Amino acid sequence: MSTFDYQNGRLHAESVCLSDLADQVDTPFYCYSASALEHRYRRLAEAISASGTTIAYAVKANSNLAVVSLLGGLGSGADVVSEGELRRAMAAGIPADRILFSGVGKSVDELAFAIGEGIHQINIESETEFDRVLDLAQRAVRTVRIALRINPGIEAGGHDKISTGRKTDKFGISAGHALELYRRAEKHAFVEPVGLAMHIGSQISDVSAFAGAFDYLAEATDDMRRKGLTVSRLDLGGGLGVAYHDDEQELPLEDYGALLKSLALRTDAQLTIEPGRWLVAGAGVLVTRVNAIKQAGDRRFVIVDAAMNDLIRPTLYDAHHPVWPVDNHEDAALHPSTVAGPVCESGDILAFDAPLPGLAAGDLVTVGHAGAYGAVMSSGYNGRLLVPEVLVRGDDFAVVRRRPSHDEAMALESIPEWSSATAAA
Ligand SMILES: *Cc1c(COP(=O)(O)O)cnc(C)c1O
Repeated sequence: MSTFDYQNGRLHAESVCLSDLADQVDTPFYCYSASALEHRYRRLAEAISASGTTIAYAVKANSNLAVVSLLGGLGSGADVVSEGELRRAMAAGIPADRILFSGVGKSVDELAFAIGEGIHQINIESETEFDRVLDLAQRAVRTVRIALRINPGIEAGGHDKISTGRKTDKFGISAGHALELYRRAEKHAFVEPVGLAMHIGSQISDVSAFAGAFDYLAEATDDMRRKGLTVSRLDLGGGLGVAYHDDEQELPLEDYGALLKSLALRTDAQLTIEPGRWLVAGAGVLVTRVNAIKQAGDRRFVIVDAAMNDLIRPTLYDAHHPVWPVDNHEDAALHPSTVAGPVCESGDILAFDAPLPGLAAGDLVTVGHAGAYGAVMSSGYNGRLLVPEVLVRGDDFAVVRRRPSHDEAMALESIPEWSSATAAA
């Protein structure tokens, strides 16, 4: 299904022309396709259905309420990593008993809030956190279901900064330590250890990385069961890889589904996965207007009005995003063009040497596959306003996060009387 497609020579999101949208919303803005989100969710749900695996959407990939609500409406649960995301998931209509809480540094207040809401499961990542949860559950006099996140000691993930399952990464605990904590939890009146969790990294397209990790998890499960412990849930994390380049491979879903099925048969546990990127990356684009064209040495720069503060993936992870002109210049010669933003950093580059036609100031371009880890990672650096997000369905669109005014952007700040220039005088 092609969601972002040229119709009458102009790029559309479903049936909405991005150039018309740019006139109404003003650039830069993110645009998401509801049909693409649905299509992705259904495809994944179908591929894993034989294993009875449940999906808990990793809210951090795109936490816009409209996006979370759409996925929740299709049956997804949520995987959250902060109180803010937990509140977002609930505000989007996902019931607390379908929400998992992951993350390596949950605070006491966040844990207390999650326990008060009665969420499905808390994934424990350290002994400190484990002790906190035991203590909070006791005080709340509420049963809290926990899973222990174990670190399989595996190299996986598309980039050093998104690998999480190596022995030296900050995530998870060793299987041996997990066993010890599990035993302690089983003796606790209000904490029920239900299983194990893992998340080995992001942007994984080689199914053998998952195969190795699942094996490790199955063996840890067998070992715990032999020692008399009850392991009924396995949370396999996210990390399903997508294709940002045309010549890149997506994670082969059928193989992934088959792995889940064999893990389900082998362990007879309730499986959960936490996909983020796979569901939303391709369902969104960043639409931006050309500010200037300039040549620097032999590099041709297209300076646009979106920047690293709006989409930081290229700067942070050397990530590749395709760039498409909104007006289709059929037959036009393409020039390698480096698309950069107005921020005062040399690293403010959205794409190196993208093949683009001869653009002029005022033309629109879109940065593709920007639905995941785009808007959520944006900031107000350089006094720039957070960009709006638009959701399209068919020929309808809605601004699902509006652009704040400059006054709103400054409203949380204040100048103490004793530090103002007048006080000094
Ligand atoms: C980030 C994260 C995910 C989602 O990862 P994707 O690569 O977006 O699928 C899932 N689970 C945990 C614990 C995470 O930290």
